[in-house]
Order: sequence, then C-alpha cells, then structure tokens
Amino acid sequence: MSFVPKAYRGRTAAVLGLGKSGLAAVRLLKRKGFRVFVSDTRPRAEVKAALGRLARAVSWEGGGHGPRVLKAGFAVKSPGLPSRAPVLARLRESAVPVFSELEVALAFSPPKDVVAITGTNGKTTTTALAAEVFRQGLPRGRRALLAGNIGLPVSDVAPAARAKDTLVLEVSSYQLEDSRSFHPRAAALLNITPDHVDHHGSMAAYIEAKAKVFREQRGEDLCVFNAEDPLVRKLSRRCRCRRLFFGRKGAHVHAWVEGGKIKVKLPGRKETAFIPPDLPGTHNLANAMAAILLALGSGLKAAAVQKALKAFPGVPHRLEEAGAVRGIRCVNDSKATNVDSTMVALRTFTEKNVLLILGGLHKGSPYKPLQPLVEAVVKGILTIGSAAAKVEEDLGGLVPIFPCGDLKTAFTTALHIGAPGDVLLLSPACASFDQFRDFEDRGDQFKALVKASR
Ligand code: ADP
Repeated sequence: MSFVPKAYRGRTAAVLGLGKSGLAAVRLLKRKGFRVFVSDTRPRAEVKAALGRLARAVSWEGGGHGPRVLKAGFAVKSPGLPSRAPVLARLRESAVPVFSELEVALAFSPPKDVVAITGTNGKTTTTALAAEVFRQGLPRGRRALLAGNIGLPVSDVAPAARAKDTLVLEVSSYQLEDSRSFHPRAAALLNITPDHVDHHGSMAAYIEAKAKVFREQRGEDLCVFNAEDPLVRKLSRRCRCRRLFFGRKGAHVHAWVEGGKIKVKLPGRKETAFIPPDLPGTHNLANAMAAILLALGSGLKAAAVQKALKAFPGVPHRLEEAGAVRGIRCVNDSKATNVDSTMVALRTFTEKNVLLILGGLHKGSPYKPLQPLVEAVVKGILTIGSAAAKVEEDLGGLVPIFPCGDLKTAFTTALHIGAPGDVLLLSPACASFDQFRDFEDRGDQFKALVKASR
C-alpha cells in the first residue's frame, strides 16, 4: 500500500521518532495541513528542544509511545526506529497504517525522476558524485537535487522541487526496510557487508531491506549492480528491469578499470573511456563506475559526465586532504567509524610513513584485522578516547603506540614524533560520541588543528 495524501485528508499523522528526518516530516505534514502528533522515547525536555517553535504548533509526547498514537489516521516512522519496536506491533493490531518518511515525502514530490543509491559503504560519495554528474548532464532548466541519508531529509527537498527536476537520493537500509512502494527510475546497489544487523534483526533482513531499492522497478527502469560483490550479484537475479554491472572486465560487465581509466561499454553502443575523479583508493573507482553507469544508462552524454568527474572535489571527512604541517601531510578520514573503513583508508597508502590516530568510542569489534596493514604502512599509532586500551591490546607490539587521550594531544604528539614526508591520518575506526558531537565535529576539529598550526 502506498501513501496517498488525499486518502488521509483531515486525519492526524503520528510521527514516531524525532530525528532529522522525523522533524522534516513534521514540518512537511504541517505545511500540507495535517494535524500532527509527535511521539518519541527521549525525555520530554529533549523532544521539546528538538521541536523548537513547532512545540506549540503540534501535539507531542516524550518518554515513550503512549496510547494516543493508536488514535492516529496513519503513522510516519523515523528510519532509526527498529522494526521490532513494540509500538509498531501495537499500530498493526490497531490497523493504523505506518509509512516511511521517504514514501511520505515522495508522495508530495512533483519530480517523477528519482535516482537512488544504496549499499553498505560508499553511498554518500557515490550519491554526491552522481548528483554532480546529473547536474552537468541534464538539459538546461532541469535540476538535479541531492537528498536523503546524506543529511538532507527528503521531506525538506523533494516537495519543493519542480516536476522536471531529478532527485538524486542516498537511501539507507533503514529507510528502505519501511518502504513498500519506493520505485526509483534508476538505482544502484554498491555492496553489502554485515552492518546494522542488530537494527534489522538478522543479516537476511538487512539484505532484504537493500533489495527493496529495485523491488518495484520494471522494464526500462535501470539498476546498477556491483558484479564483484557476491551478495549483490545474487540479488541482481531478482531484478526485473534493465541491469548494468561494474567490476572486473568480463562478458557481463559494463564498466571496468583498465590502464588507469574507467572503460564503459553499454549494450549496442561503442566503448568509451573516462578519466576517474581525483580520489584515493580503488573503492572510489567503484563508486565512480556506479555513478557513470547511472548517468550513461539514463541517457546523459559522455562529455558532460567526464566534465563532472574531473571537477568532483570529493566529500569532506572521507580521506580528505587537510593540508601539510612542517612537511607532514594531514588526512581527515573521520568518517571511518568502523574497522572496515580504516582498512579501506590504510590500503590507499604504500609507504611505512603513516601516523595513525585511532580510537574513540569502542563499538565492540576487534582491531586485530588492522594488523597486516599496520605492519605494512603505519609507523606509529596515537590513541584517543575510551577505545584506547582495546586498541593497545589488539595492536600492541607491532609499532609504537602513544596513548594521547584526546585529539589535540594526539595532533601535537604526532607533530613532535613525525618527520617531513610522513602522513598524519585521522581514521579512528570508532564512533565519535565519547568526545565529539558526531564524526563531522571530530573531522572539523582535526582540520582546525591543522589550520592553526600552518
Ligand atoms: P556511506 O555513506 O555508505 O557511509 P561514504 O561514501 O560516506 O559511504 O564512505 C564511508 C567510508 O566507506 C569511506 O571512508 C571508505 O572508507 C568506505 N568506502 C567508500 N566507498 C566504498 C566502497 N565502494 N567499498 C568499500 N568501502 C567504501
């Protein structure tokens, strides 16, 4: 069942969870004339603060979901609320339909052209790149608008767009799992590795959530798949629209890397070569291939695509060059909030000259998988945050470890022990919430330290 606004006219919308997208849904539904009831498990004072001036315009509750949500005409679920939350079972029993913020936002959205990108890793980079490519390649007067999990709620962006615009959306598994009718015209599935399994309940449920990106697609719709990812390849067999694959050169692959270029061969068209964007690592070549296939498969011109690739500056906090201090190159990879991401980062270095800032809030997985890469390219580790002891336990004895406690101490210690030609890499493999607001705050503080020392 999809959300049809006029079927619910005059009814109350219960918005469950007041994160960034929940708040955007409240604003949108209010603007569209619905009565809104907000329900959140956070304490009342926090809900009130999050609502700001809206606290007087809507009714709301904090500290849990009371019986009032069951009186609503429909509910809008924030992506962060787990699908096993008891309130959802109660809503089902009371026959109150529950929709995702994504579906509600798109029901009010004039554009029909929706491009969606999902995957465990690389979503933000690929979505930002795809948005640039579409911006460059769409005919004059048609805009490409970026939104979604990237920090711009679809409820804020899509309803204000024009019918001829293209929406380029980063969609997470959380947003997809709640969606029943999500139907992008073009989609990309980048990769699937175990993540967020506690939220979804099982790996199988996580995979099914990802599969929803193409479930409603048919015929001439387009879905781009990573041929090198076994789970993605397997899922692609269920897809009922046009499929394009990226990976190693082979019979069924439409984009691959050869001689430093990205080569593309679409069915019935001649082969084209692209110079990849200036971003580190093979993972970014994969992201670029996905964006290129989305664009060419949507009929955009190769020259426009190449122009956008060349100009793409990358996304902040992902292996971002932060400048050099006393000959030490500083790299901000604050987005590396898990061990996998730090491995991806370390793989982009070849010399044993990396001073690595590791630590923060420990998430539970061991740091041992970093051992071979640490031995190969790291010359010293600077630890911060509450994960420091665990980092020492898992990586001790391989290279010198300097317990620094906080980022500022780690930075000054690195300048002290480092030499010109070294790389100071903030790629902490941990969450940031013990010492920072979020990973962006952590990366911004790192960049500020670099700037102040130059
Ligand atoms: P997401 O939005 O999915 O978290 P980002 O583009 O923000 O993805 O990248 C987050 C981190 O994931 C990067 O710092 C990098 O370490 C890793 N990464 C990016 N792209 C890929 C990819 N295609 N495959 C594997 N890892 C990737």
